[in-house]
Amino acid sequence: MNKQPVVLSIRQHDRNVAGLTYVYPVVSRRAGGVSIGINLNPNNACNWRCVYCQVPDLQRGAAPEIDLALLERELRDFVDYVLNGDFMLAQVPPEARRLNDIALSGNGEPTSAACFEQVVQLVGRVMSDFGLIGQIKLVLITNGSLMSRLSVQRGLEAMQTLGGEVWFKIDRGSAVDMAAINQINLSPDRVRRHLKLAAERCSTWVQTCMFCMDGEPPDEKMLSSYLALLQSAVEENGVQLKGVLLYGLARSSMQPEAARLSPCPVEWMAVLADRIERLGLSVRLSV
Ligand code: SF4
Repeated sequence: MNKQPVVLSIRQHDRNVAGLTYVYPVVSRRAGGVSIGINLNPNNACNWRCVYCQVPDLQRGAAPEIDLALLERELRDFVDYVLNGDFMLAQVPPEARRLNDIALSGNGEPTSAACFEQVVQLVGRVMSDFGLIGQIKLVLITNGSLMSRLSVQRGLEAMQTLGGEVWFKIDRGSAVDMAAINQINLSPDRVRRHLKLAAERCSTWVQTCMFCMDGEPPDEKMLSSYLALLQSAVEENGVQLKGVLLYGLARSSMQPEAARLSPCPVEWMAVLADRIERLGLSVRLSV
């Protein structure tokens, strides 16, 4: 394993930093410590193309075939290095020397991996062998679009037994706005169905990214449809959520729209957080 002597900072998310195919360390502002990431999309392929996406050379598509034996070897070696080696001392700033979670995330949509369920089982084996179940979280960062697949649903059910959390992307509330921001054709009704499928199987947070386009924050029409989608999911569809992870634009987009995007003012984000809370949902705001 090539362990470069790099001190990771809060903004460093280079997935090649450990020199591995699938496993990478992140000091995460979301997690407040070290997260061991699992990138199931080393081909930079996603079925969406969000205008704020930070993946370079993003392609439309699905995860490639995963070498499960290599993934398990990498994960075991890296967990061992973090827990028993000098990783924290050599590569992590003192204030972040804490292993928070293992995250299924990366350069595309993780649930597009055909063996997603087997990946969760594999991670569960490694967590169990290192005594990590109940000690750290297993997080899935997903756009939620493949929740109707039975193998994805079974993967979420397995995650729940491992103390898992799903972070389910909902950036906007209308089909028009989702087409503009996520570059996909999706109805609010389908999003609600997928959200319910996720939340019935594993603890689920909605994750939302808000930012200015051409200097303007999302307008009231956009915000109203976003809030209406959350409200109807909870009140009409009976979706039980942990809450909403509300993010600003922390890192630069690697998409052609990058120059048009900028962070929303902190006060603007706080007002939106307050409006979400008034729906009865917890909000964690990261700007
Ligand atoms: S869903 Fe995630 S990986 Fe896919 S395009 Fe959007 S931000 Fe990028």
